[in-house]
Amino acid sequence: MVRLAVTGAAGRMGRAVLAAAAARDDCDVDFAVNRSSVDESISGVVIESTTNFEALLADYQPDVVVDFTGPESAVEYADACAETGVSFITGTTGFDEEAVGELKWASESTAVLKASNFSRGVAALRLAVQEATAALPDADIELTETHHNAKRDAPSGTAKTLLDDIERVRDELTERVHGREGDAPRSTNEIGVHARRAGDIAGEHEVLLGGSNETLSLTHRAGDRSIFAEGALDAAVWLAGREAGWYDFFEVISDS
Ligand code: NAD
Repeated sequence: MVRLAVTGAAGRMGRAVLAAAAARDDCDVDFAVNRSSVDESISGVVIESTTNFEALLADYQPDVVVDFTGPESAVEYADACAETGVSFITGTTGFDEEAVGELKWASESTAVLKASNFSRGVAALRLAVQEATAALPDADIELTETHHNAKRDAPSGTAKTLLDDIERVRDELTERVHGREGDAPRSTNEIGVHARRAGDIAGEHEVLLGGSNETLSLTHRAGDRSIFAEGALDAAVWLAGREAGWYDFFEVISDS
């Protein structure tokens, strides 16, 4: 039984992680924290104030911390995990390069796994997009992502991961054009990027490859957040007990 701590526990993803963990028999939640106080327990777990995080970590010594918060807090939690040797998983998005550097620094002292998307379907989409990009070297590529109206970062972390994947295959695509307005003809070295925000949409990503007389559209739609929660918990169970280092969700998938 892998023992977990959950941060951002009262958020959309935190709630999904607590609900998924309660239904599994391979992991158990020792404690959960949230920034703003929450006067309730969620899926049977009492939500503690985040100011107690270090003390709770020292008291419980969980195997893995599962984090879905914001970039600044994720880095702080990663540091605390590095100090105590607790493994750290983050699905948080919106990190800048410096913050990723700090997470990597933490991974020198403990096991760290960061994934902008914990859906197995999105992992499959990434592979398909890389193959399609290689097979259609002249295609214009446009990426559209759609999320709920409270999402903070744009484009989504998953969109950035897909763009990185595409640019690794087609290194002449050097310009990311975010939306278009006015006189805006397309150049051959750009990827168009479009971020839509509406309602309670859990997450959609479409990569459109347009050539002469043919187009290919690859799309993933998340039905609800449970797919991300299950993937994060699969990753937590896989990461528990591993040595310090920087790990990838593809390693989890290829092992299970
Ligand atoms: P949310 O705003 O609903 O929840 C964030 C929660 O974290 C809130 O309850 C907030 O109070 C709490 N929080 C913020 N700072 C905190 C801190 N310092 N300590 C403790 N709690 C803190 O957001 P969400 O929809 O749950 O998404 C959270 C993050 O996860 C975002 O970055 C989002 O893009 C990302 N996300 C990733 C995946 C994935 O598969 N990797 C899937 C969905 C969302």
